[in-house]
Amino acid sequence: MPRKPISKLSRQSDGKTGDPLALIIKALAFSANKHRDQRRKDTPASPYINHPIDLANVLRNEGGIRDGVVICAALLHDTIEDTQTSPEELQREFGKRVCAIVLEMTDDKRLPKNERKRLQIEQAPGLSRRAKLVKLADKICNLRDVAYSPPERWDLQRRQQYFDWARQVVDGLRGVHARLERAFDEVFLLRPRQ
Ligand code: ZN
Repeated sequence: MPRKPISKLSRQSDGKTGDPLALIIKALAFSANKHRDQRRKDTPASPYINHPIDLANVLRNEGGIRDGVVICAALLHDTIEDTQTSPEELQREFGKRVCAIVLEMTDDKRLPKNERKRLQIEQAPGLSRRAKLVKLADKICNLRDVAYSPPERWDLQRRQQYFDWARQVVDGLRGVHARLERAFDEVFLLRPRQ
């Protein structure tokens, strides 16, 4: 069956219309389309799009964040890293500011995994304020997922290491949002023990 082309999505809400909700819905549709064939690593193999939606939900409904640029970037944060999406495409559809944050959230997949993880710790303090918010929400959501529905093959040590790494990243961006940092500290209490 032919895929609906992305260009069919409205291009009128490119952030210059003063209609943040339109841009957010467009980001949601765009991201759902890009991630349409991907699944999470948890046992039920949940649809991937649940993850970016989780971030947006945490930012808005736990963090009280009303900045549409941050919410859009959260919905799109994995598109460059994990789907066939170019920075040019994001910039064209969502503007420079959203694209810049997504780029800040994008690991260089040419590097080995350990190096990418080390760089996330090293680079956290230098992220823009908006990227720090998205990063913080990402770590909150990922730890909740590992605590409540971990990837099937992750043993105790791997889950513990993931918690410890996420905490090192978050420690590098503290001071950005007290309420969300508290939410992170709460989820960290779920660090697996057995
Ligand atoms: Zn993510």
